[in-house]
Amino acid sequence: MIKDQLLAIKSTLPDHVTLVAVSKTKPDEDLIEAYEAGQRIFGENKVQEMVGKWERLPKDIKWHMIGHLQRNKVKYMAEFVDLVHGVDSFRLLVEINKRAEKLNRSIDCLLQIHIAEEDTKFGLDEEELNTLLKSDKYRQLQHVNVVGLMGMATFTDNETQIRREFKHLKSIFDAIQTENEQIKILSMGMSGDYKIAIEEGSTMVRIGSSIFGKRNY
Ligand SMILES: *Cc1c(COP(=O)(O)O)cnc(C)c1O
Repeated sequence: MIKDQLLAIKSTLPDHVTLVAVSKTKPDEDLIEAYEAGQRIFGENKVQEMVGKWERLPKDIKWHMIGHLQRNKVKYMAEFVDLVHGVDSFRLLVEINKRAEKLNRSIDCLLQIHIAEEDTKFGLDEEELNTLLKSDKYRQLQHVNVVGLMGMATFTDNETQIRREFKHLKSIFDAIQTENEQIKILSMGMSGDYKIAIEEGSTMVRIGSSIFGKRNY
């Protein structure tokens, strides 16, 4: 069933859109089923859980941290994480840089932009983003690569609102892309809204429940 749902979704995605299979809370068997159907990028939102799965599952899986990240957890995943989606402060970026430097690697990151109406969704606003990208402190970080932006729309049935929020994020993305050639990835869209997100310019969708079924917390 996971295989069928995964392949059905993949068949609808344009070539320029990358699928992150969001496997948070799901057991290893579920990830293996998706893996055997060809999926290699998995998204988790808890560091500990991601570390356990990384230890147990095939080593060619690319692990994306999609959740809100605490600085004191960065060290546990610095060795293997492929992309960090939710970087929402300069201090977090500094910590990721420090841990990557110790391991003699660099870590790709997306800056999270606050586009939703709700206060509860983390992220920078446009001004904070521009200040960060223009700062000398940021340019001195040699072990993180900011390769794009991530955002979450308001959790609502109102399609007009969701579309407006994604359009807003896309316009911010376009503006910084003209000045930063390493900006390539726009991570927006989940099970409920990824079709709208793709229409509005997403290049990476994070889909969980439509592949793996509802989560039991
Ligand atoms: C859980 C989660 C998703 C996937 O949500 P679904 O609605 O199950 O597709 C995507 N992005 C983030 C940041 C998440 O925490």
